[in-house]
Amino acid sequence: MSSINITQALRELPKAELHLHIEGTLEPELALELAERNGVELPFRDLADLKAHYEFANLQSFLDLYYQLMAVLRTREDFTDLMLAYLKHAHEDGVRRAEIFFDPQVHMNNGLSYDLVLDGLLEGLRIGRERYGIEGGLIMCFLRDLPVESAEALIETAAPRASELLGVGLDSAEVGYPPELFKSVYARAAELGLHLVAHAGEEGPADYVLQALDVLHVERIDHGVNTADDPALVGRVADEGIALTVCPLSNRRLQVVQDVRELPIRAFMDAGVKVTVNSDDPAYFGGYIAANYEALAEAGIALPMLADIAANSLNATFASAQEKTAMLAALDDWRGKYLD
Ligand SMILES: [Zn+2]
Repeated sequence: MSSINITQALRELPKAELHLHIEGTLEPELALELAERNGVELPFRDLADLKAHYEFANLQSFLDLYYQLMAVLRTREDFTDLMLAYLKHAHEDGVRRAEIFFDPQVHMNNGLSYDLVLDGLLEGLRIGRERYGIEGGLIMCFLRDLPVESAEALIETAAPRASELLGVGLDSAEVGYPPELFKSVYARAAELGLHLVAHAGEEGPADYVLQALDVLHVERIDHGVNTADDPALVGRVADEGIALTVCPLSNRRLQVVQDVRELPIRAFMDAGVKVTVNSDDPAYFGGYIAANYEALAEAGIALPMLADIAANSLNATFASAQEKTAMLAALDDWRGKYLD
């Protein structure tokens, strides 16, 4: 198949996005538009100057810009617009279902109410479901580099509307903030009937993955690439069917690896680990989800394995059995078109 056809095939591939921070979809153009609309002053001369700040040395330098730009999000409508801009990309990239992270602590620190943020994002999902046929939901993330008390307060703020969330997650700067710090917060989230996921093993060690499983009782591990450092843990993650939400372009941009080829995708797949591919913060890392699949194709992973990765993503969603069956049938059709 020609490279143009592979690009098209990977865009059409029915897939789920399981590791996507809605704030990380804020494109520089929209950031400037919202800054203007809301009268927020940003320390950038123009679009070119802002774009020049998108070269990061590591996770922290990315987070500094990411938090700075979030200040332009002020109204419910801003959050709806942000969600719809993402869902348009997701639709173009073959996403059937998106389970989307958001970071309320940042917005609440910026003076917004939890309800405003939640209402705006849910409205975007509702319109997106009608407009693009994408199902999905929200995963509320705790910022691990803020005090645990802040996460404890957030879960209580969220509790009355817990049924409007899919689950909770744990994100932001990883090293020095082990999962076990959030044991009580996760226990409370479980009590509220929420699904549990956490970032672990991106910059942090394999031991953080172990803690996320044993102490937080998560159902998926976000990133998890450093699981590869502990062969026994790789075996366990495979046996228990724990999906890893790997983000190739993010890992390359944040220099977790220098080259996508260094990611242990094939080794994980050969070991039976449920690898998925996702875009993390696509406005910042150079590509939405199909571009992440394409980066793996360029790194030598063949279409049949990429289709298996897409199947993993559909199976690892928190969708109903009926919805999963429908999505997997669409994937079978795709296999019939491109693999036979
Ligand atoms: Zn992430």
